[in-house]
Amino acid sequence: MQQTIAALLALQELDTEIYRLRDELRRLPEERAARRAQIDAMIARKDETAGRARASRLKIKEIEDLTTIQRQRMRKVEHESTQAKVDVALLAAYQHQVKSLKREISQAEEEGLALVSDADAVEAEAKRIQGEIEQAEKVFADFAQNVERELAVARQKLGELEGRRKQRLSPDVDREAFALYERLLGSREGVALAQLDSRICQQCYMEVPVNLYVRVAKGDRVVQCPSCDRIFYVRS
Ligand SMILES: [Zn+2]
Repeated sequence: MQQTIAALLALQELDTEIYRLRDELRRLPEERAARRAQIDAMIARKDETAGRARASRLKIKEIEDLTTIQRQRMRKVEHESTQAKVDVALLAAYQHQVKSLKREISQAEEEGLALVSDADAVEAEAKRIQGEIEQAEKVFADFAQNVERELAVARQKLGELEGRRKQRLSPDVDREAFALYERLLGSREGVALAQLDSRICQQCYMEVPVNLYVRVAKGDRVVQCPSCDRIFYVRS
């Protein structure tokens, strides 16, 4: 059984690294996707801002068109009021019309001016976000390139380690112990063995009874931690 424990320790050495690499292969693309999503959110914010600016510009154009028509009408009324056939009552009516047109034009112009300064501010904001996006895209491109490189290295290392693991699976390992090891590897995040040091499990830090320590030290059978289930070993 001591031979089995020694073989499992040799496997654990590889498996620790294999799990670390698998974790890296999972984590790196996740981080890349999260960073991409951040930039995409910025792009969406920029598009929404630019859309608001466009709507403001459209409204401004509408107001300008309307005031142009109102000015034409005003000039027409002013012209008609100067005609010879106009009597006092009609003149008063014309003057009243001109006055209200002037008021409407001035109100529309005020509204237009407010919209122009609003649209300017919104456009500046869209431009600022665009600048941030360009900066973020540059950083992201570098990061994505690094991720690709790191993934390639990790994949290669993983392939090598998995090959070495196959070679290390010796036939003299107790079948049952190996099955238990594999099970624990899966359920305990890649750490199936636990060193027992002065009666303390070095994985879950639970203290074990003396008799259990003695059994582990004898090394004639597989002993598991009562708390975390891992297979105990002692450093000789
Ligand atoms: Zn434990």
